[in-house]
Amino acid sequence: MFDYMIVGAGLAGGVLAERLGSESGKKVLLVDKRNHIGGNTYDYYNKDGILVHKYGPHIFHTNSKEVFEYLGNFTQWRPYEHRVLASVDGMLVPIPINLNTINKLYGLNLSSSEVDAFLESKAEKKQRILTSEDVVVNKVGRELYEKFFKGYTKKQWNLDPSELDASVTSRIPTRNNRDDRYFTDSYQAIPMYGYTRMFEKMLDHPNIKVMLNTDYKEIQSSISFKKMIYTGPIDYFYDYCYGKLPYRSLEFKFETIEQEVYQSTGTVNYPNEHPYTRITEFKYLTGQKHPKTSIVYEYPKDEGDPYYPVPRPENGELYRKYQLLASREKNVHFAGRLATYKYYNMDQVVAQALTLYKKILTNGKKEFSARDFPAKEYHINGHKLPIIQS
Ligand code: FAD
Ligand code: UDP
Repeated sequence: MFDYMIVGAGLAGGVLAERLGSESGKKVLLVDKRNHIGGNTYDYYNKDGILVHKYGPHIFHTNSKEVFEYLGNFTQWRPYEHRVLASVDGMLVPIPINLNTINKLYGLNLSSSEVDAFLESKAEKKQRILTSEDVVVNKVGRELYEKFFKGYTKKQWNLDPSELDASVTSRIPTRNNRDDRYFTDSYQAIPMYGYTRMFEKMLDHPNIKVMLNTDYKEIQSSISFKKMIYTGPIDYFYDYCYGKLPYRSLEFKFETIEQEVYQSTGTVNYPNEHPYTRITEFKYLTGQKHPKTSIVYEYPKDEGDPYYPVPRPENGELYRKYQLLASREKNVHFAGRLATYKYYNMDQVVAQALTLYKKILTNGKKEFSARDFPAKEYHINGHKLPIIQS
């Protein structure tokens, strides 16, 4: 009998398996339908011996000392500050938009205070910032919005920025200085030997059993467990009883090139041309030395693995219906980007998982009272919930 069945061996599931199995001495079964651990952070050496990220570039950054130190138990870090250029008007210019971006695009030589005035003169001030269009137009005006954001967002989400929550483009700041880093968090680093090695260390404990190539629905009624932690898509958990939640997907096209360096920075964004959004060259991220180099193109699409929840009001409403069902579960916790339908970065997922772990610890006594585990089927709103066995 397992204390926990944890569905999904990504960061949410991995952290909770480690905390419950190794720290709290619980017996944990970690299940993933993929053939590897690590979830979307999974990396591997390709046939040319270059370390690549299977599900697109993953750059770790956080302001949380707790999260950084926690993951540091399982990996050494290689400091790495990501820099991105955008292909706009036939030039490669820094994104987030900064002083150099404006000076290069417009052939100017403005100072920081002059660029503030320049952007102020372009900005269309909005009364209320509701959408991803509002955020950018309000800050830098329509022209820069169209050069950097409109096309990229349409490609990435198949939605106009005016149809997406403000939170999406709010991820990208505007700067009046020359700081060309993509992130400004206090901790920015990549696991020295890769994410997969970090996960191997996290899960290396006799209390943690890992079952791959398995959808939890295939096994949940034949394996005994007391509680479940679910990190897959929440709508799938409830058999889409309220309809499908939109998740955006991507296709990754990898190439290895017979030269040491392909592009001048880790990622180049293509807001306007090409069907892909960006090209990333892995060796910048990993620091690997190799005579060849591997790159990945990201082609957004609707169908396929669910990668991004789509932040917009109607999806939030649909999610809240599922969340209501989830909140009534006694024996199932939901965590991670897919199960809580949040556009979270890795550090936010780790923080959420650590918080859930603390909550589980606090409620520990209640959690294991026999009354809480009726070995029977039960229904909410006419929907059959998974059998939890005591
Ligand atoms: P996941 O990693 O998706 O793990 C969920 C796991 O559950 C998956 O392995 C899945 O196979 C499994 N699963 C689902 N359903 C079932 C089922 N029915 N049965 C069994 N298993 C199931 N974050 C950053 O901080 N920095 C970045 O640079 C960054 N870049 C990104 C780039 C891309 C292209 C994408 C898509 C995301 C990026 N992220 C980045 C976000 C990051 O990937 C996530 O925050 C994090 O990996 C989410 O972890 P998770 O455990 O919630 O989900
Ligand atoms: N974005 C954009 N142009 C860019 C970079 C980002 O329009 O050059 C918008 C786009 O909507 C994107 C969002 O900002 O989806 C968030 O960008 P981020 O780089 O954080 O996306 P992620 O790495 O999560 O795919």
